[in-house]
Amino acid sequence: MSRNIRVAEPSPELQRKIIRARQAIAEQEPRVIKCPYCRHNSIVVFGDTKGHVQAKCKICGRETVFNVLEMRRMRRLQTYYSVFTEIE
Ligand SMILES: [Zn+2]
Repeated sequence: MSRNIRVAEPSPELQRKIIRARQAIAEQEPRVIKCPYCRHNSIVVFGDTKGHVQAKCKICGRETVFNVLEMRRMRRLQTYYSVFTEIE
């Protein structure tokens, strides 16, 4: 797809930022949001991810905007319902 793209090492300042970001998420639980079209894992978000993110699915190529907080609420609701049906 991207045959003509030249890959270069990021600047030292950018590399420091990348390392810092990696350290910041080390203690956080990653959460996978699935592509709504093909159900494959689309993006990984972390505990401090808030608001909207746009991701392009690696499998089907569709771009989707996710509201991360809304996805989290849906997940909780599903967990709640599965617990509820187990009791019944
Ligand atoms: Zn997809």
